[in-house]
Amino acid sequence: MLEAGQTVIPTTRSIAETGWQVLTRDDPDLGALLDAEARYQSGSLSMVASASLAPPSVLCANGTVLSNVTAEGYPGARYHPGAVHFDGIETLAVERAKQVFAARYANVQPHSCSSANLAVLAALLPRGGRLLALDLDAGGHLTHGARASVSGTYYDVARYQVGPDGTLDYGAIRDRALEHRPDVIIAGASAYPRYIDFGRFRDIADETGAFLLADISHIAGLVAAGLHPSPIDRAHITTTSTYKQLAGPRGGLILLGEDYCRTGPDGRTSLWQLMQRAVFPGFQGTPDPSSIAAKARALAIASSGDFHATMKRVVDNAQALAGELQALGYTVLTGGTDNHMVLVDAQAAGLTGIMAEQALEECGILVNRNKIPGDPLPPTVTGGLRFGTNILAQRGMGPFEVRTCAGLVHEVLSGIRVLGATHYELDGARRDAVRDRVASLCLRFPLPFERA
Ligand SMILES: *Cc1c(COP(=O)(O)O)cnc(C)c1O
Repeated sequence: MLEAGQTVIPTTRSIAETGWQVLTRDDPDLGALLDAEARYQSGSLSMVASASLAPPSVLCANGTVLSNVTAEGYPGARYHPGAVHFDGIETLAVERAKQVFAARYANVQPHSCSSANLAVLAALLPRGGRLLALDLDAGGHLTHGARASVSGTYYDVARYQVGPDGTLDYGAIRDRALEHRPDVIIAGASAYPRYIDFGRFRDIADETGAFLLADISHIAGLVAAGLHPSPIDRAHITTTSTYKQLAGPRGGLILLGEDYCRTGPDGRTSLWQLMQRAVFPGFQGTPDPSSIAAKARALAIASSGDFHATMKRVVDNAQALAGELQALGYTVLTGGTDNHMVLVDAQAAGLTGIMAEQALEECGILVNRNKIPGDPLPPTVTGGLRFGTNILAQRGMGPFEVRTCAGLVHEVLSGIRVLGATHYELDGARRDAVRDRVASLCLRFPLPFERA
């Protein structure tokens, strides 16, 4: 028992516990919403391809006293005092990132992969410089020069598409590069279910005198586990998000391989020095020390055997999901998958992406609508659905359960009565039956924070 006025030596744990006591006592509204969110995650079947479950230790590392440290700059070269422990933590995160990806340089400060991409582009491309990247509708990302992004307004962007079979056509990409003469080529996607041949991209970049940026935001876990060919020594620069397949905090990484000392566009400054400056002071001010601590934790987990086994299950599950959806009559783009992602043509099933997404959500199944190549529908509606198996695998489900999930999806989608592009009806009895089955499946495969 503490005497009044007695002080305790604070620990990370006691601070977190005190914080939760105060939050639930003084702010019951917020506390209730946070608890409701934990229950919601526990009881829903999430197949959102960009999402994954951060282990409890990652969540904890992200909410510590480190947030009280303000320190612009890098370890050993800060613009504020008092960063002695933060220096150690950032160095740990950098070393772990280098180890996990066999990289020669890592920058762990980007607040997101979007800011990492924009920082890299700003470092390599003058305003009006030429960029070549995958078209947004064909699976590219906004920051790859999409019209709605600053990357699409500051640069002269050419876009490559996927071929008729939905896969990257490297011959056509080379032709596009020879025609456009880009300064930077981006290889990487938000909605692409097949291997990306970074070596082929590098050949094209070398032939046309471009820098190659590989964006592995979606597949970083597979790359870390050796289940997707690594771009680290192929691309000049690699970026990723940390909260997607790496199951870390919100944030991004910039990684360099063999070319880290090679000079950038000015012919003088090395790429790694360019990246240091591009993130700070080029694009960001203070780093987020808590999120860097959480990145360090997630990267330690990503080098474990357990993580590798989970990533293997991610791919097995995605292939099982693709196979089962096809067997149920759905059009799976590219006929299958090599990674965690399965793209389905919703229009071919007489639906739109939005109505499928909403009907599934009503039943506790989370899958996001997505544009697919040649999609005539606007991004708010879309003709496609994007499935991912990160979370199913993290919950411990294998191909057998994933086929059950595909059956539940079919139960919902085949029960939709279409009333317009965005209007539909779903039979209430069917909805309740699916909800019950989702709930019992979720109970059998609890989340990491329910098992800790
Ligand atoms: C999600 C994504 C990003 C953006 O990542 P954020 O960390 O959410 O900003 C960038 N590139 C690709 C390919 C992505 O899929």
